[in-house]
Amino acid sequence: MERRYPLRNKIVVVPLGEIDYILINRLASRLVSHFNIGVDILQGAKLPREAYNDQRGQYYSTVILSKLEILKSSPGEKMLGVVDEDLYIPTRNFIFGEADPVGKTAVISLFRIKRENYEMLDEEKVLFSRTLKESIHQLGHLWGFANCRNPKCVMYVPENITDVDRKGTKFCDNCLRRVRVWKL
Ligand SMILES: [Zn+2]
Repeated sequence: MERRYPLRNKIVVVPLGEIDYILINRLASRLVSHFNIGVDILQGAKLPREAYNDQRGQYYSTVILSKLEILKSSPGEKMLGVVDEDLYIPTRNFIFGEADPVGKTAVISLFRIKRENYEMLDEEKVLFSRTLKESIHQLGHLWGFANCRNPKCVMYVPENITDVDRKGTKFCDNCLRRVRVWKL
């Protein structure tokens, strides 16, 4: 009998609006090796206008998540939206990303990671590294990983860009112990 592995589903990367396709392609191929899963890229999606908050000048990420859910073509798909705009939720000034483990949708913003703290750093390398970490973090929630207190763990919640640069791309041992499905 064929066993069904939860990880054998698919990630769909959805650039929302104008996003550098080289970055998106590079991200998609790294996600394939990191999660050992197929990754598609869905082109042509637009940022939902109704997610924009005029007063804040930011997009409400939870609204974007619900739009991503509509774009799913099968329940096994895990959607990862990538936006260039600044994201918020009502309780925070800004967020790097958000995930909905029930709807299996996630979104990350390049806004902060593109614009902060490049002094003495290789801009392209740092931008990709930050994008990858925040993508893995939000997708991790879709596999049941919780936020983690270990500053080196990818599931650590960054308060600022320095926190993002300090952490790695891997799940720490504590996180891996808690999410047994990961080791199937
Ligand atoms: Zn951890």
